[in-house]
Amino acid sequence: MTFKEFDLDRSLQDGLEAMGFDKPTPIQEQAIPIILKGKDLIACAQTGTGKTAAYLLPVINHILHREGDSIDAIIVVPTRELAVQIDQQLEGFSYFTPISSIAIYGGGDGSSFDREKAALKQGADIIIATPGRLISHLNLGYVAVEALQHLILDEADRMLDMGFQDDILKIISHLPQDRQTLLFSATMPPKIRQLANKILKDSEEITIAVSKPAEGVFHAAFSVYEEQKLELIRHLVGAKELPSIIIFSSTKMNVKAIQKELQKMNLSADAIHSDLEQHEREEVLRDFRNRELQILVATDILSRGIDIEGISLVINYDVPNDAEDYIHRIGRTARAATKGVAFTFINKADQQKFKRIEDLIGTEIRKVKLPPHIGEGPIYSPMKKNRGKRKFNKKNFKKKKRS
Ligand code: ADP
Ligand code: MG
Repeated sequence: MTFKEFDLDRSLQDGLEAMGFDKPTPIQEQAIPIILKGKDLIACAQTGTGKTAAYLLPVINHILHREGDSIDAIIVVPTRELAVQIDQQLEGFSYFTPISSIAIYGGGDGSSFDREKAALKQGADIIIATPGRLISHLNLGYVAVEALQHLILDEADRMLDMGFQDDILKIISHLPQDRQTLLFSATMPPKIRQLANKILKDSEEITIAVSKPAEGVFHAAFSVYEEQKLELIRHLVGAKELPSIIIFSSTKMNVKAIQKELQKMNLSADAIHSDLEQHEREEVLRDFRNRELQILVATDILSRGIDIEGISLVINYDVPNDAEDYIHRIGRTARAATKGVAFTFINKADQQKFKRIEDLIGTEIRKVKLPPHIGEGPIYSPMKKNRGKRKFNKKNFKKKKRS
């Protein structure tokens, strides 16, 4: 199907076209009609599936057909980066419309607060805000929310992880009861469902099935300190006579460093990254396919799509940024119903990110103990880490929450 079939306002369709949006993604296909009907909605789909447009388009469309010009929609998001990013997408979609919007987040100086205040008083159509900053404004009493029609909670799971539950409820206490509430999340842990039960009315639910790792992959992870990673590679690579091994890292710099270290160890290793010319990349790939090269080190440019037979081991030198990348990376092994092994190295800083991948694919990935000669790695405890960092001094706590 195409976006035309939603019968959106002409000006909005022009915006979509300008942004190169042609076909809706599955979450958009399912969510847009429900939101256009005015129903409450809880929608779960993993990162990168187009959730932003799924709620922005029907909400903008509604605003184009309403009377009045006070605040119509508030989008609550966990971070300022996300607020800015959503505001940019919104500007793209609404380029040919008279829709006004503002992103409101912590930090900045007094003048940014005053600018936000002015926009909130006059009533921008759409407000995109982090919880703490929005509450500061709401408490001062000038935010024109009487005619609000839409509340959207984006990345709801992350907001709860960051401890924003009470703030969200406080925000809701300021808003009219008679409104449409939309909750978007990448995962659906029980606490999200509980929140939904509390704040949604007679809601619909959409869950887009997450991709799963291929059947034949044995995947496991090591909790390691950064300094232990190279030694661990040497151990894993040396343990068996494996013909073809891929090592992924998300940065080009790491890829080059790993390649150098492996070559120093006299291993047959080469690398592929974006600094190479196309013909150089092809040459490396050819050697790897022909088994003249045992170890290929690569950034994510290789994780999607490239089909190489008989890769027996995939090593994630660092945790990929999202679950899709994880699945693509480990999917390089165990192709066509063969078996393969994939190991991920989790350093302390990556623990939270790894936990999110486990949440997304819905399984806990087995953690393997480091071999004794490498020593102990850090304890894998993604939640505790955060608690330990945060000092339980009330002022500090607030500051961190109210970003
Ligand atoms: P999510 O919120 O689910 O993580 P986003 O809404 O940020 O995903 O979308 C991810 C990327 O996909 C963005 O760059 C967005 O512009 C793009 N995108 C979303 N929907 C479409 C579409 N229908 N056609 C083309 N690109 C799209
Ligand atoms: Mg999103």
